[in-house]
Amino acid sequence: MGFSILLLSFCQRFVIHNTLSKSIESYYQESGRAGRDNLPAVCIALYQKKDFSRVVCMLRNGQGYKKERFKRAMDQAKKMQQYCELKVECRRQTLLQHFGESFDRKACKYGSNPCDNCLKIAL
Ligand SMILES: [Zn+2]
Repeated sequence: MGFSILLLSFCQRFVIHNTLSKSIESYYQESGRAGRDNLPAVCIALYQKKDFSRVVCMLRNGQGYKKERFKRAMDQAKKMQQYCELKVECRRQTLLQHFGESFDRKACKYGSNPCDNCLKIAL
C-alpha cells in the first residue's frame, strides 16, 4: 500500500480509492483523475464490506439531510456498493451503462487495459 501511494505522487498514473465512494458519479469523477493526459492509467478501488456502513453512518450524520435527500443518497451509495461487489460483470460496461452508454465488453477484455473481472473470466 505504501508503495502504491509513492507511485501515485510521482507519476499520476494510479488512482487508488481506499474508501468506498459515496456514489458511482463521484467514483467516476475521481477515477478520471488517473487518465487526464490520455495515457494509460490504472484505477484501483479497495473495498471492504464494512465500508458501506461507514458511508451510511456518514450520510446519517450529514447536516441538514432531509428524508428525501437521505434516501437518494442511500440509493446512490447502494449502487456503488453493488458496483464494488460485481464478480463477473465488466466494470467498464457497468459504469458506462450507468451513464446510459452502451459498450461492447470485448473492447475491455481484448483492450490494452482490461478490468479485473474481464481479466479473470473467459468470454
Ligand atoms: Zn471489463
